[in-house]
Amino acid sequence: VSSSPAPTDRVISVAVPVPGLGLLSYRAPGSGPLAKGARVRVPLGGREVVGCITDTQAPTNPGHTLRDVIDVIDPEPFVPPDVVDLALWVGEYYASGPGAALALAMPPASREGARESFARTRVLELVPDPPASDARLGDKQRVALELLRAHPEGVPTADATAKGIGSGTVRSLVERALVRIREDVRWRDPFATSGTDGPAAWSVAGAPLQDVALTVEQADALRRLEDGLAAGVFRTMLLNGVTGSGKTELYLQLAARAVTAGRRVLVLVPEIALTPVVVGLFRSRFGDRVAIQHSGLSDGERHDQWHRIRRGEVAVVVGTRTAVFAPTEHVGVLIVDEEHDSSYKQDEAPRYHARDVAIVRARAQGALVVLGSATPSLESVQNARAGRYDEIRLRRRVMNRDLATVRIVDMREEYAAAGADVTLSRPLVAAITNRLGRGEQTMVLLNRRGYATVVFCRQCAASLECPHCSVSLTFHRTQRRVRCHYCNYATAVPRRCGACGGEFLEQLGIGTERIEADVRTAFPGARIVRIDRDTVRRRGAVTRAIDAIGRGQVDIVIGTQMIAKGHDFPGVTLVGVISADVGLGLADFRAGERTFQLLTQVVGRAGRGDHPGEAIVQTLYPGHYAIQAAAAQDYDAFYAQEMQFRTAMRYPPTVAMISVLVKGRSAEAAMADALDLVKRTRRRHPHGQVVGPAPAALAKLKDEFRAQFFVKGQQRKPMRTALLAALDERPELKRRVIVDVDPVSVL
Ligand code: ADP
Ligand code: ZN
Repeated sequence: VSSSPAPTDRVISVAVPVPGLGLLSYRAPGSGPLAKGARVRVPLGGREVVGCITDTQAPTNPGHTLRDVIDVIDPEPFVPPDVVDLALWVGEYYASGPGAALALAMPPASREGARESFARTRVLELVPDPPASDARLGDKQRVALELLRAHPEGVPTADATAKGIGSGTVRSLVERALVRIREDVRWRDPFATSGTDGPAAWSVAGAPLQDVALTVEQADALRRLEDGLAAGVFRTMLLNGVTGSGKTELYLQLAARAVTAGRRVLVLVPEIALTPVVVGLFRSRFGDRVAIQHSGLSDGERHDQWHRIRRGEVAVVVGTRTAVFAPTEHVGVLIVDEEHDSSYKQDEAPRYHARDVAIVRARAQGALVVLGSATPSLESVQNARAGRYDEIRLRRRVMNRDLATVRIVDMREEYAAAGADVTLSRPLVAAITNRLGRGEQTMVLLNRRGYATVVFCRQCAASLECPHCSVSLTFHRTQRRVRCHYCNYATAVPRRCGACGGEFLEQLGIGTERIEADVRTAFPGARIVRIDRDTVRRRGAVTRAIDAIGRGQVDIVIGTQMIAKGHDFPGVTLVGVISADVGLGLADFRAGERTFQLLTQVVGRAGRGDHPGEAIVQTLYPGHYAIQAAAAQDYDAFYAQEMQFRTAMRYPPTVAMISVLVKGRSAEAAMADALDLVKRTRRRHPHGQVVGPAPAALAKLKDEFRAQFFVKGQQRKPMRTALLAALDERPELKRRVIVDVDPVSVL
C-alpha cells in the first residue's frame, strides 16, 4: 500500500530502533489521533518495527513514495514530547541517530510495542455494610472474618491461604456477601527484595527523617540554591564541596523546596551500588513518592517504576544515567551527584554523558541543575570559572570535623627494607593494628581486582596474554583461573609456558584478592570483607556488605573504586591506599584527573564520624602532582597543574574532541581505513585538527584490531559534520567505526 501522499494525508516522522538510521517519514491514513511521543508499528524493508512519532506534521517530499503506518499503538504520547526532543538532541550531538536514543526513554518491553501491564494481586476485604442474616457461621468462617476485621486494608488471598483459610471458606463468605475480592496492582517493588517490608526497607539505618540543622556554610549554599530554584529559569550551579561537607543534606532540603513548590526532582547517581543508599535517604524524607530507575532492576520493576513516574505519581526520581530520560513532567531541579564520575558516560551508542544531557534537559524546561562533587570535572570547573555556571564552595566538613591527615609512603623505601614482595607498608600495618586495638574500622583501596595482574615465564619472559585481546590475563586465585578483564575469556592456569615450555611461571602485579590474602595473614583475628566486581556479582551483595560495615560488623574493608565513592561510614578512621599510581600509567589524557579524583574520594572516607581520620597512601611516585594534590586535598592546586597540561597538549576541556575508532581484521587493514577517513575528514575540516591515526592503546579487543584518530577543534558541529560526511563516502565502514563525541576515556 504505497502511494504518493494526497493533500489530506498526514505525514509523520518516526524514529526507529535501527542504529545509524535517521528519522523516517510515513503516511498515516485515517483520522485517528496522532501524538508526538506515541508509538507506531511501521514497515521497514521486509520487517515490521515499533518506532516513536517525533513529528506529526512532517514536511512532505513531492514525488517521494511513502509507506503507510501499520498501526498507531498509543492514542496519546507514550514518551513525553519534551523527552522526545531530548532524545533527538542526543541522537544528533552524539552522532548515534535518533532510534537508539529514544529507546533509552522507554522501558524494555514497550520498545516492542507492549502496552502498560501491571502484575495484579487478589485481595480479600470485608463488605462494609453486610446484609443482615440469621444463618450461623462456621468456625473457619468466623476465623476468616476476624482476620479481615483486624486488617481493614484487606488480606491478599495468598496470605489468607497461608493462614489456613481455604478457597471454600472464601467462596462461601463471598456468596453470603460478607466478603469481597478486589484486584490490586501489585507493584513489583525493587525495595521489597531487601528482605524487610514497608518503610523500614526504604530508609537507611539511622538516617535522619527530618531536615537537620545546617551549618553556616551549608545554609549559605542552600540559600543560593533556593534562589536558583525560585528564579524559575535555566541555571547550572556547581556545588564544589569537600568530602563530608554535607552535600547530600543540601540535595534533600532543596528537593523538599521544589516538591513543595509543585515541581519534580530528578537525582542522578553514578553507580547502581550507590542508588539504594541515596534512594533510602530520599525515601526517609519523601516516603513512597520516590521512584528508582536503573538497569539493575528487573524488567517488571522497571516497567512499574516507569509508569508510576509517567502517571505523575512520584515527586522524586533517583537513578543512574538513563534516569535522565525519565518521563517526569514539571522538573524543577536536576541533581547530578558526583558529577565527575565516568559512569555517567555510556560506553555504547548513543555515547551520551548524562550530566550534559541533564543540562540540556534543564535548559529546555527552565530548570535548575545542581552538579555536586568534591572533585569536579575540569569541564565543569572551567565552565564555572568562565561564568557559565555559578560555583558554590563548601570548604569545611560538617560538625567541624577535620579532613583526614594524609601520609605518603614511598614504596621504594619499603622494598629496600623488606623486599620487593611487600604489599602492606610498615606504617600501614602499624596504623591498622592501632585501629583494631581501638575497635575502629579501616578501608584499604586497590583499584585492580584479581590476585596477580600478570603471569609471566621466568625463562623466556613471555606473559600470559588473552588470545582475543592485547592485554595480560589476570590470575584469580579462588577461581584458580586466569581471566581477561576485557572480554571475560578464562582458562585454567597452565603448568608450563606456552612459548618456551618453561616450568617457572611467576606472578606479578597485585590485585584486591592478593591484598585480602595478605591482610588476612597479617591480621588473623580481624573481620574482613572485600568489595569488588568479583565479590558483588549477586544482587543485594553490595547492600548487605555496606549494611554490615555500617553496623560495625566489619573491621577491615578491602576494595576497588567501588568503596571509594559516596558511602558514609562514620566508623572508618583509617584509609590505606595500596598503589596510588595504578591508573597513572594508562595512556589516557584523563589518567591524572582520575587518579586525583579516586585518591581524594577515598581519603575522604576517613574520619566522617566523631574520631579524626588518617590516610596512608603508598606510591612509587610520591612527587607526582596528582598524588601530592590529593594528599593535600587541594582541588585548586590540581586544577591549575592539570589545566596547564591540557592546554599544552590541546586536550579537553581546552578543545572539543571526537575520538574515532576504526576496527579491522588486521592491524594494517584498520590503519588503512582509518587513514582514509582521516584524509577525507581533514579535507572538510581545514581549520581544525585531525590527529592520527595510530593503533589504539587497546590495539586488539575481542579479536578485532583497532586504529584510532581524534578530531579536535573549538566547535563540535563542524567537526561532526566533516566526520559524518567522510563516513558517508565510505558507508561500508559504518559498522566498524565507533564515533565518540566528548570521550571520557580514550583507551
Ligand atoms: P558529602 O556528600 O558532602 O560527602 P554527606 O552529605 O554524606 O557529605 O554528609 C556527611 C555526613 O554528615 C552525613 O552523615 C550527614 O547526614 C551528616 N550531616 C550533613 N549535614 C549535617 C549537619 N548540618 N549537621 C550534622 N550532620 C550533618
Ligand atoms: Zn580478552
